[in-house]
Amino acid sequence: MFTAFLIKYAEIGVKGRNRYLFEDALVDQIRFALSKIDGEFAVRKTQGRIYVDAQSAFDFDETVEALKKVFGISGICPVVYVEDEGFEKLSGTIVNYVKTVYPEGNKTFKVCARRARKNYPMRSMEINCELGGVILDACPDMKVDVHHPDFELNVEIREKIYIYSEIIPGPGGMPVGTGGKAMLLLSGGIDSPVAGYMISKRGVKLEATYFHAPPYTSERAKQKVVDLAKYVAAYAGPIARYSGPIRLHVVNFTDVQLAIYEKCPHDELTIIMRRYMMRIAETIAKETDCLGLVTGESIGQVASQTMQSLVATNEVCELPVYRPLIAFDKQDIVDISEKINTYETSILPFEDCCTIFVAKHPVTKPNVKVIRGHEKNLEGTVEELVKTALETREIIEIE
Ligand code: ATP
Ligand code: MG
Repeated sequence: MFTAFLIKYAEIGVKGRNRYLFEDALVDQIRFALSKIDGEFAVRKTQGRIYVDAQSAFDFDETVEALKKVFGISGICPVVYVEDEGFEKLSGTIVNYVKTVYPEGNKTFKVCARRARKNYPMRSMEINCELGGVILDACPDMKVDVHHPDFELNVEIREKIYIYSEIIPGPGGMPVGTGGKAMLLLSGGIDSPVAGYMISKRGVKLEATYFHAPPYTSERAKQKVVDLAKYVAAYAGPIARYSGPIRLHVVNFTDVQLAIYEKCPHDELTIIMRRYMMRIAETIAKETDCLGLVTGESIGQVASQTMQSLVATNEVCELPVYRPLIAFDKQDIVDISEKINTYETSILPFEDCCTIFVAKHPVTKPNVKVIRGHEKNLEGTVEELVKTALETREIIEIE
């Protein structure tokens, strides 16, 4: 029945003079997302609205799924178009629409007519009343409720007549690529993929860094991170106009980690290791034009995420560190990871480079001066190890 979709967008609508940039980016992203599925579609922008018109047979569910992954879309409204062939004909179409979409019948509704074409012979209010009456006659179990209806039947009189009532929620946010680029520290855990998703939802393109420690961590642990990056990339990349896939930098962290293990107190291992991760990720971030780092940290979740620990981790970075999950409870993070399909992969039991060298009783309130002091033990060796880690990194393009 549906041959088109009206795309609703939230925040873009309140942009001023730059609005068209965001709209154009959204149109690009929609075109790109739809190019990956079966069917021909035309995406057009008219009078502050975006329409997707199907120009061939298409799979409704697959199309909606693709649109649900485009950041910037707040709602997807399946639309029926009909030619204007008089009010009588329109009434028949409307009854047919309502009976098909709401077969259970016992709904409350409200008709919202809009005339974009002012030469239509009836006024909007008149259309509302007449069509409301027609529906009530045809569906005796339905009732009008103008304040809190179960559905709002929109009837827009344009060159054709557009009918829609369903709004399928989109992901919200801003089109990816409108907000610069950030470096995600991506581990195999639950949190960092969610953090990446959240930042890219604000229009930010991602680049990612993963630290592994072969032979202490396996090829399968790495594959898990590649898989997680693919789920994040389903939303965050590849981006139509702006550039290609998410690039994942896989850094061999073994020697740095072993040096820390040898030369620093064991209760400070995690925090010092985190500081080296941040330093290395920042170096790559700067080389790749990223404007910030992104982590999955949340206050108090583990010893390395207390306020004191975060001071210590933050200290080594010049770029801002974005922590979108900072005030989220674990369950809230899990809920999002389930929504974006990363959960099942995240909980696979492969070793992480952090867990291998972890102390039984890590410091929970590290003192930055003390940490700096112990890092001095690494001077003279660690620089070269960091340099090698950077130079030997593997770059994987995540489609
Ligand atoms: P996650 O579920 O994201 O792994 P976590 O609760 O296990 O988080 P930590 O291991 O303390 O927490 O890591 C905190 C953050 O540091 C992660 O969210 C991630 O951004 C980054 N991080 C940790 N380990 C790695 C790694 N091996 N490679 C890249 N980034 C990492
Ligand atoms: Mg982790």
